[in-house]
Amino acid sequence: MAYNVLIVDDSHIVRRVLIKALGLAEVPVGAFIEACNGAEALGVLRSKPVDIVFLDINMPVLNGMDFIREVRADTDLKDTPIVIYSTDGSDSRREELERAKIQGYLRKPASPERLVEIFSSILGEVAK
Ligand SMILES: [Mg+2]
Repeated sequence: MAYNVLIVDDSHIVRRVLIKALGLAEVPVGAFIEACNGAEALGVLRSKPVDIVFLDINMPVLNGMDFIREVRADTDLKDTPIVIYSTDGSDSRREELERAKIQGYLRKPASPERLVEIFSSILGEVAK
């Protein structure tokens, strides 16, 4: 099984780095889909099958927290696995994210080992 991965970040460089890191982690990816803010990401979720979302918090137009609220309030999208990928690791932010029922939290930059761990915990056994 290969998984479609949606990467949401306003930084083109961060999106490139994450795609490269996921490649190195040898997780089974079907397609990488990119979005540069939460609004664009919602459009993707409503039009394409996505298995997991890597999500930045600080973005223009629609930020990560507001994106999560929209997804969790949408009956078709609410169960989409979301992993935060952010530099913001403050305790208050973590508590806020735990309440928002996200599946994982990664601090930038993430090692390939952490990426494999996150994939395995969310999507099950990762093929080697
Ligand atoms: Mg950002």
